[in-house]
Amino acid sequence: MLIAAILRTKGSEVVSVAPETTVAALLTELSRHNIGAAAVAVDDTLIGIVSERDVVRGLERRGPDLLTAPVADIMTANVHTCATEDAVEAVGEVMTLRRFRHVPVLTDGRLVGIVSIGDVVKSRLRVLEEDRAQLEAYIHGG
Ligand code: AMP
Repeated sequence: MLIAAILRTKGSEVVSVAPETTVAALLTELSRHNIGAAAVAVDDTLIGIVSERDVVRGLERRGPDLLTAPVADIMTANVHTCATEDAVEAVGEVMTLRRFRHVPVLTDGRLVGIVSIGDVVKSRLRVLEEDRAQLEAYIHGG
């Protein structure tokens, strides 16, 4: 299964914020869209990723003042990205090894989607279900 198949189902909307967006405004976006991370972009170019975990760490370090700080202060600039033609399994492995739950998808340097660990698990389960159904049909001669 390829990342492109996940994007076909979930679409290519990516919630992005500018680096100068305050952490309070980021929280509004995360809550409004019911998501755990946002891409940080300037003129459609990805420059970072910021997740709820960055906010938790920042709050612990800086206290409530963090809410008026820009997301650039807490984002991860070295973003691991993937391509539409990458295998879902490979992307899932990187997420597990490096302990992050979101991977932006780029085509020719442009953001075309974002895949979460939930999307990866859902896709893997679907493949396993299909394999199981095929084996059952084979065993029962269907
Ligand atoms: P997450 O598990 O996605 O909430 O993120 C956990 C930590 O990894 C946070 O510090 C994020 O900024 C960072 N992170 C999330 N996604 C990525 C990614 N694709 N590449 C690099 N760092 C990431």
